[in-house]
Amino acid sequence: MSVTALSFPLSSSAFPFSSITFKRFKSLKPPNATSQQVSLDSSPPNENQSPSQPSNKTGVIVVGAGLAGLAAATRLQAENIPFVLLEASDAVGGRVRTDFVDGFTLDRGFQIFITAYPEARKLLDYDALDLQRFYSGAQVFYGGRFHTVADPLRHFTDALQSLTNPIGTVIDKLLIALTRIRVLSQSDYELLTANEVKTIELLRGIGFSESILDRFFRPFFGGIFFDRELETTSRLFDFVFRCLALGDNTLPKNGISAIPEQLAAKLNPSSIMLNSRVISIDYQSEQGIAVSLESGESLRSDLGVILAIEEFEAANILAGKMVTQAKSPVRSTVCLYFSVDGDKVPVKDPVLFLNGLGRGIVNNMFFATNVAPSYAPPGKALVSVSLIGMYDGVADEDLVERVVKELSDWFGKAAVGPWRFLRMYRIGFAQPDQCPPTDLMKDPRVKPGLYTCGDYMTSATFDGALVSGRRAAEALLKDRATVKV
Ligand SMILES: Cc1cc2nc3c(=O)[nH]c(=O)nc-3n(C[C@H](O)[C@H](O)[C@H](O)COP(=O)(O)OP(=O)(O)OC[C@H]3O[C@@H](n4cnc5c(N)ncnc54)[C@H](O)[C@@H]3O)c2cc1C
Repeated sequence: MSVTALSFPLSSSAFPFSSITFKRFKSLKPPNATSQQVSLDSSPPNENQSPSQPSNKTGVIVVGAGLAGLAAATRLQAENIPFVLLEASDAVGGRVRTDFVDGFTLDRGFQIFITAYPEARKLLDYDALDLQRFYSGAQVFYGGRFHTVADPLRHFTDALQSLTNPIGTVIDKLLIALTRIRVLSQSDYELLTANEVKTIELLRGIGFSESILDRFFRPFFGGIFFDRELETTSRLFDFVFRCLALGDNTLPKNGISAIPEQLAAKLNPSSIMLNSRVISIDYQSEQGIAVSLESGESLRSDLGVILAIEEFEAANILAGKMVTQAKSPVRSTVCLYFSVDGDKVPVKDPVLFLNGLGRGIVNNMFFATNVAPSYAPPGKALVSVSLIGMYDGVADEDLVERVVKELSDWFGKAAVGPWRFLRMYRIGFAQPDQCPPTDLMKDPRVKPGLYTCGDYMTSATFDGALVSGRRAAEALLKDRATVKV
């Protein structure tokens, strides 16, 4: 699409600003929220117990109901092990949440679900998620127009036509095919444990030109890792590249939160305690591990505790007893949503648009309703725009204005002018830093009976979080000699 240059009067009063900052999940807790009580006590009440002693004895305590905690609980439930899942916020999902606002489905940040994620395939019912597919490729804005990058196996003609476009050389496009063959010839385990370098070093080593690095790899994989410098480990690049080669990029019809909600729906509902923030853990006691909640309640577990919380939270709760400390800086992003009348959307394709210019603040965007029409009420369309980083020093109004200005260059001012700003998500912690050196197969055992899991233990993906949760549960089961794993 060529760019037209019309002037667009931008008035800040046109935008009903609303912004949510998710630096700490504490902000999600409703003011008067109380814990839902569970009935999982595995021992009779002890009349001699002093009031200061933990009273509620339960099976396994899983802390954190993100994908890792849900996967751990799923594994425990499969073995009929009683558990309680404690979640600080008001719903399950952790970083994978969706808000439903005036008929719009707003995922908390741009998230895509790749169908080839190996652990997810085992755990999720894809049909029930009603996955809506993206085009396998992207449209790159460069030199005043869009250029197609297409997967030759799925869109052969598009790929052929794009061979000579300025996004990369013909050799670059052949190198993409060779990279595909390389990652498909290795197992996930081999890729995740291979010798590692930064992704940018891997790509330069393969021989990719600077033009394809800047115009395609930085916005595309930079958007996945929230890291335009591509300093993230080559292990993660190879794993994600393999999944992209084998599967589709999708969105669940009812929003990305349908994924954790599907897992939670299979768990015993009385085992899940929302609005239950754990503030400390006493694991020195002979009588099992005691978990203290912000509410003042205490739980004791004789089977074990699995901490399925972010690494920095785990480090706080374990008060320096963890072997590793979170690397910094963590990866951040800003996601802005706009609405527009359905018939005013400039393109109809379910495709991701990338910024190939090497300047500007927009990294990628898409018309969410082109992928999943259910993301907006009838007659309306939803636009999703992603930036990398937090833009801490920039006011919401200024960010919206800059985004609208940039995208007016992409699609024309006449097309972008009618967009109405809906909401902004500034996500301080989107992913952990996974630059080399990494260990994507971390041992979940802190000590017998105490385990950690989360995306920082494996790959910082939905799949990595799910794998880590299962592994933590299996380590516990093995230590308790409950099952052979
Ligand atoms: C904007 C964004 C986009 C992303 N895009 C993708 C993508 O496209 N594809 C992909 O594969 N991955 C993506 N990811 C990464 C993916 O979402 C994460 O890797 C994964 O969800 C992490 O799950 P987790 O269970 O390890 O952690 P979390 O989801 O962070 O779960 C931790 C849970 O623990 C709870 N908790 C914390 N402290 C306590 C406490 N003291 N007591 C009780 N509960 C506590 C939290 O409230 C939270 O629910 C994205 C992430 C973000 C934020």
